[in-house]
Amino acid sequence: MKTYNRILTYARPWRRFLPGYVTFSLLSVGFGLVNMTLLKPLFDVIFEQVSPDKLSRFSEKPDPAFTFEFINDLFNHHMYRIEVDHGKFGALVYVCVIILSSFLISNLFRFLSSVVLAKARILIVRNLRLDLFRKVTLLDVGFFTEQRKGDVMSRITSDVQQIDVSLAQNLKVFFREPVTIIVYFGLLFVTSYSLTLFTLVLLPVSGVVISMIVKRLRRSAIDVQASLGRLLNILDETLGGIRVIKAFNAIPYINRIFRKEVGRFSDAELSWSVKIELSSPVSEFLGAVSIAGILLYGGHLVLIEKSLEASSFMMFIAVFTQVLQPAKAIANSINNFQRGIASGMRVFELLDTEPEIRNKPDARKLEVFSNEIGFRNVQFGYGEKVVLKNISFTLSKGKTVALVGPSGGGKTTLANLLPRFYDTTGGEVLIDGVPITDYDFYSLREQMGIVTQESVLFNDSIYNNIAFGVKEASPEDVERVARIANAHKFIMEHEQGYDRIIGERGLKLSGGQRQRITIARALLKNPAILILDEATSALDSESEMLVQDAINNLMKSRTSLVIAHRLSTIQHADEILVIDNGEIVERGTHAELLRSNGIYGKLTAMQGLRNINDPGLSAGL
Ligand code: ADP
Ligand code: MG
Repeated sequence: MKTYNRILTYARPWRRFLPGYVTFSLLSVGFGLVNMTLLKPLFDVIFEQVSPDKLSRFSEKPDPAFTFEFINDLFNHHMYRIEVDHGKFGALVYVCVIILSSFLISNLFRFLSSVVLAKARILIVRNLRLDLFRKVTLLDVGFFTEQRKGDVMSRITSDVQQIDVSLAQNLKVFFREPVTIIVYFGLLFVTSYSLTLFTLVLLPVSGVVISMIVKRLRRSAIDVQASLGRLLNILDETLGGIRVIKAFNAIPYINRIFRKEVGRFSDAELSWSVKIELSSPVSEFLGAVSIAGILLYGGHLVLIEKSLEASSFMMFIAVFTQVLQPAKAIANSINNFQRGIASGMRVFELLDTEPEIRNKPDARKLEVFSNEIGFRNVQFGYGEKVVLKNISFTLSKGKTVALVGPSGGGKTTLANLLPRFYDTTGGEVLIDGVPITDYDFYSLREQMGIVTQESVLFNDSIYNNIAFGVKEASPEDVERVARIANAHKFIMEHEQGYDRIIGERGLKLSGGQRQRITIARALLKNPAILILDEATSALDSESEMLVQDAINNLMKSRTSLVIAHRLSTIQHADEILVIDNGEIVERGTHAELLRSNGIYGKLTAMQGLRNINDPGLSAGL
């Protein structure tokens, strides 16, 4: 119930819906009730109970009152008049016309109240999605390891959908049907007190049986949704890696994985369906049991005790079947409800995940970066696994520090600490002498530009991909940075120029073109601190030249932390740190490191690079 209440809060403010909804519902139930009270006279007419002498006690108009009796008496009074004027068949026509019109009105109000509820439902789902998406964008970088991606996607899409289908759409069941049931029971009581008490004994028995089934439903529902998350994951990986899958003829492999998960999904779905399908016949049967009970007991009252008129008894049964409908609707939706609640729990679990990287309450803004960045005995690990040990170095304003070393050594991890994608597990990272954890991290990231090996682009125009993240960018600015980034020329080669849509992840462009767009983006942001993580290593040598030239433009008069795979690009760095297995194993300038002839020396030899002044290879700084 807690989960359900929380979901309902997403339709706030209720003020907008409640008055209209309550009015329409009451009117709808009210007119429905008129129909029901009319059934008795209808039966009376058909079974020839109506004769002028029987109705003659209604020859006077009754005194107005707000009771069933008044409605009944008023109606009978009219019946009396019509009976006198038009005969029996005229009376039948009269009853039918009234029943038809009140049915029409009742259903019209029913429709209106449903529309109001639909608005509330749509609002709930919309707000939930917005909240979830916002939450996802706020969560830490570390949260999104691969196996969570599909799960997060399924929570935002399928679980919200499930909430819509099974909770929100059932709003009416929970808000209108109880009213209907209560009002109709009132009518039943007026018709036959003892028969109603009898039915009230039958109902709780059914309730217990049904709730026993319902309890088992939620577990299956959670299994279904979790499995769906894993399915989405596989789908995401497959679509992302379709070229590799084909190239390695790995289609059977990926199909096998998918089939296995689909199997698990089907099992969970079957287990859920069996329970759901069981609950419907059970509740039908219990309904039949109560009708049979009523027929027996009511028949007894009519035939033997003669304390109940036959037409009243028929009306009672008619009304009771009307009560059964909403009662069944409630029972069914309790089943569906379990699935919605299971999804609701998954959705709120994600919503309640707090990012670990947070601003301190008294976090200060990093207005300008004026002096130096310092790593002091920094340690870091992903969970148990220690990745960085005791890293210390200083990067002064306007200088360049380069990180080199074997893959897996921890260079990317080290660079990720600076914008606080992760926080250190030991030691400190300082900017101008202040630990970066003391800064507001938005202001910290404001000072930084990042270009990585994979260029991150969105399926939007080139213009928007460059201007992304910068609030006020003029077309002149965008063109200026595109020129500096060696991108203007290729952009203009296409007839749509800057308005060209570049496809999902920018796949309509070549690797070098994509990279130059991300460099233009970084130029536009104009950050004081630059982080380059193997920005050119995915490129062929021709586009590398163009990109490297763009990077050199980008690095001008900035403070840079550069991770380079090709050593030719970092020879001019003020300090080069060789990182191996999480430690700085060598440090110094290019010339110093060559002289000491350690790992760096070996790496440069492997890349055929000895001479700092070699014109062919030092396309670098
Ligand atoms: P480099 O950039 O020098 O190639 P990385 O910093 O990417 O190295 O990785 C350093 C080590 O940390 C590797 O052993 C890698 O397996 C591990 N690692 C990197 N990212 C994660 C992560 N998100 N979770 C767990 N381990 C990771
Ligand atoms: Mg790396």
